[in-house]
Formats: sequence, structure tokens, C-alpha cells
Amino acid sequence: MSFLSVFKKKKMTASDNRAPSYSSGAGKGKSGLADTRAAIDELSKVVKDTPEAVEIYLALGNLYRSQGEIERAAQIRNSLIVRPGLAPAIKARALYELGRDFSRGGFLDRAVSAFEKAREIVGDSPEILTELAELAAGGREFEKAAAYYSKLNQPVQEAHYLARLAEDYNSEGEYALANRTLRKAIDVSESSVESWLLVLTRMKQEGALDKFKKKFNIALAKVPKHLRFVLIEGVLAESLVFGETPLQKKEPDNDRSYPFYEVMVEEISQADPDVIMQYYGARLLQLCGKQEEAGVWLEKTLMLNQNFWLARLELFNLAQDQQQLTSSFKNQLDFFVNVAKKVQRFTCSSCGLKRDRIFFNCPRCRSWHSISFRKELNQ
Ligand SMILES: [Zn+2]
Repeated sequence: MSFLSVFKKKKMTASDNRAPSYSSGAGKGKSGLADTRAAIDELSKVVKDTPEAVEIYLALGNLYRSQGEIERAAQIRNSLIVRPGLAPAIKARALYELGRDFSRGGFLDRAVSAFEKAREIVGDSPEILTELAELAAGGREFEKAAAYYSKLNQPVQEAHYLARLAEDYNSEGEYALANRTLRKAIDVSESSVESWLLVLTRMKQEGALDKFKKKFNIALAKVPKHLRFVLIEGVLAESLVFGETPLQKKEPDNDRSYPFYEVMVEEISQADPDVIMQYYGARLLQLCGKQEEAGVWLEKTLMLNQNFWLARLELFNLAQDQQQLTSSFKNQLDFFVNVAKKVQRFTCSSCGLKRDRIFFNCPRCRSWHSISFRKELNQ
């Protein structure tokens, strides 16, 4: 049972965490702060034994926090925490909110210490472990974050942070350690798209074509159907899947990549027909310079979904090369094609965020694996 359930109203709103659009508090002067302190002190004496009153009192702290007034919010928690004879559950709750205040204010060490103190009282509550996991992840302590998610029994998140740990090992040249960590990630969650992606990227870098083909086949079977395109998008981007490197590389692909693209096309053609994979097959063929074959794949894509705008755009591009166009007409056309190409191809199925880079954890709503490919423009 959640330790927050000792209070009637346990639901916290996302707006608690959101940054305020303006900053207040700073301009109110020292006497204002002293008055608040005195009022907070009086209130804390009155409310300390009544859970309902404590709830309202802590909500006041949350209100300050949401306004960016971290100091006042923390005062509210501290004034409760120091009361002698305070019920342990209430103390834990105040410490938990104090941890969230510090976390929100960027005082990460103090946040961890408050959460750990709350944990000493109520044990491994999911709310506290989640906060600690997010703090560890934010501080790039991926091993620690994975361990917290393991305690929380959230394998998707655990595997994600193991994959990121493996990526760190790779960049340090610790390849054996990286491989072991990736194997562990796949053991934890065999559908972990980010782990498979790192396995494939590594094999492509090593030039291990046969191994790559086998693993790509397995990955296609294990990764959820709606996320399979992430594997191809990621392989095309070549690693740094978690970094800030733009995914659409400017320079043309080299000859070394073509055999890998060809075996991917082979595997895709043997899997269930799927409009997005069909489109990616065409894209891989285009990269290998096989324009005619790509055209056939694009036609098939449109047969599966006639509103699939990107397939239409690529077919239009292919057809354009065969037309005699005046330079002015071609200029106008290029303009529209370029605008269309800038449309962001991915969206978060939870909150609708649109992006042109793959993501595993939505940067806006924090949903996991909610990325989807925009098959139609109104998506
Ligand atoms: Zn989202």
C-alpha cells in the first residue's frame, strides 16, 4: 500500500512539477518572509495531529513550490518535521514533500537526503523510489537508476537505463562490460527497443554482417510491432541514440553500410506486411541507389495505406526526375517538397508532441515508449 494513502487525498497533479512561467517571492522582502515564517509556525502547531489538516497544510507547501517559492515550501515541511510526537507517517510524508521541494529547486543532494530519511520511516514506497530513480537518471547515474526501477518492478525503465549504462561503457572502450550490460538489459526486458538498437549498431560498426542479420531478425520479432521502425531509424543514425546528435545525417552513406541495409530489406520482406516497415524498406533501397526497386516498395506502401504521405512524397520525387520541367516550375516544386520534408515524422501517442528525432521517454509527458510514426499528416 502506498504510504501516501494515510491521507485522504493522495493524488498529486502534474502541475506540481511544472516550472512556473514567472518567478515570484524574490521581490517580497525580508519582513514578508519573516511574517510567513511566523504564520507557518503557528499553523504547524495546530495541524500536527490531524491528518486532514496536515493534508491542507502540505498542499499550501505544494502551492508555494508550484510558484517557485522553494524556501517557503521547505519551511512548511520543516516546521512539521521538528514537532515532537509527530506521527511517523506524517513525518515521512513531510520529508517526501521536502525532497520534492529540493528536487524542484535543483538542490539534488538535499533532495536525496530527504527521500532517504522518509524511506527509513516507511521503507521502499513506490513514490519515494520513483523520485530517487528519476534523480539518479537525471544525474546520469544509470546503474543506480536501473537498480531503483528493478525494485519498482518496472522492466522497461530498468532496461532503458541498463542500455544507457552500456552506451557509457562503449564510449569508454569497455566493450566486454558493455556487452554484458546489454545482455542483462535484454534479459530484464526482451522487448527493449533501445537495447536491441545498441546491439545492432555495435555489430554494424564492427562490420559483422551475419551476426547483424541474425540479431535484426530476432529484434524484429521481440520489439513491439509499433516500435520496430525505431530500430531502422536508429541504425540509420548510427548510435548516439540518447545523445543530441541530429538523426538526419547530411553526408551520404558509405559503401560499407549498403550490405547492412540490404539484409534489413531482406528481413523486412519476410516479416508481416506492415505499412511503416514497407516504407522503411523503400528508404533503405533508395539509400543503396536502387531507385526502381524502391519505387515498387513505395507503391506497395500506398496500397497498404493510401494516406501515407511520406510514400507519396518519395514517389513524387522519383517521378519528378523523369519529367521535363522548366527551371521556374522546378524551383516552385522544390520549395514545396522541401517544406513537406521538414514535417516532423514522429509523435507521442500520449500527449501529441511532435518531433523529428526518436525518443524513448517523451520529453513532454514522460510516457515510456509512446513514440509513433505519423503515417498520416493529420496525426
Ligand atoms: Zn508525450
